Amino acid sequence: MKGKFPIQPFQAIQTPFYYYDADLLRETLKVLNEEAGKHDNFVVHYAVKANANPKVLSIIHHAGLGADCVSGGEIEAALKVGFPASSIVYAGVGKSDWEIELGLEKGIFCFNVESVAELEVINEIAERMGKTAQVALRINPNIGAHTHANITTGLAENKFGIAMGDMEETIERVGKMSHVRFIGLHFHIGSQILDMGDFEALCNRINDLQDQLESHRIQVENINVGGGLGIDYQHPNRVPIPDFKAFFDTYSKRLKLRPGQKLHFELGRAIVAQCGSLITRTLYVKQGVAKQFAIVDAGMTDLIRPALYQAYHKIENISSEESLCTYDVVGPICESSDVFAKQIDLNKTRRGDLIAIRSAGAYGEIMASCYNCRQLPQGYTSDELK
Ligand SMILES: *Cc1c(COP(=O)(O)O)cnc(C)c1O
Repeated sequence: MKGKFPIQPFQAIQTPFYYYDADLLRETLKVLNEEAGKHDNFVVHYAVKANANPKVLSIIHHAGLGADCVSGGEIEAALKVGFPASSIVYAGVGKSDWEIELGLEKGIFCFNVESVAELEVINEIAERMGKTAQVALRINPNIGAHTHANITTGLAENKFGIAMGDMEETIERVGKMSHVRFIGLHFHIGSQILDMGDFEALCNRINDLQDQLESHRIQVENINVGGGLGIDYQHPNRVPIPDFKAFFDTYSKRLKLRPGQKLHFELGRAIVAQCGSLITRTLYVKQGVAKQFAIVDAGMTDLIRPALYQAYHKIENISSEESLCTYDVVGPICESSDVFAKQIDLNKTRRGDLIAIRSAGAYGEIMASCYNCRQLPQGYTSDELK
């Protein structure tokens, strides 16, 4: 089975471009809200870094989610489409002074702080501006996730967060500072996680840390467990919406929340990945010595995941119904890693055929570059092309 695409309108658009199925995005958000809404005190933020296309952001804002940002630019992008500052959480190991000033100026909900050095700078800047910064401490829980090594973030060897052993001392330090207020703990163990056991391990760790803090009478208003829920890259048609129920139920069952405590989530990929496809046109079909290449006009500059993480994306020829042939699908960039897939079956492909690279809504358009002096790909939603 292939995805449903408005081929006619596509013919008029310059390839390559991103196509977002707005109905699927809205349906995904509806299921997400229904499942999160079954649990008291669950608050979901959208991780803007997965996709900051204003049209996509706007749909997500209208579904009522908060925003999770990792830069000043993302805070600006979120505010621009209407996310209230009071819904914005801001993480990042290297926050610049102007980014901290922006967050304070706009009155964001929380800075997720990743070091004592950062804490001191936030306190100083807040004092100078006559503000108080709400801070959560990002703790490195030393938990491995069963995902690609480049996208684990919760191991002691990773650069993220404050070591567990330094947690209490750091909280005490916040207590002595005049312009920061401790409001919670933050965690994020990685991305594209499909094994609920990884999230269970995080819950167990947080339970231990909470017991430890409680024994020293330290209260925590907010727990933020980050994002990381994966999607089914193999079957975008069969499994278009991730299993949000299993995800939220895991936290609900395993995590021992204290009365009144809020549990925050920061989901990126799971919300936007399946609604997006990179649409590209076949330039040439080349018969090599051992294989056949379908050379398309999109490259690693438009979608870098296969080159960067050896990521799999399902690829479909959406303008051919002819019988299957085997191809390496490659881009035009002068890099040997500019390959989308090797030895895959596509309906017989000819010059001019449109190809859809599926499940590309997350970490696709936003990671595009101008390498080789190429233009950035545009993004269109199904709402515009109806
Ligand atoms: C990237 C990131 C997320 C979102 O991760 P997904 O795997 O896309 O859900 C959430 N929180 C933080 C701090 C992140 O850096």
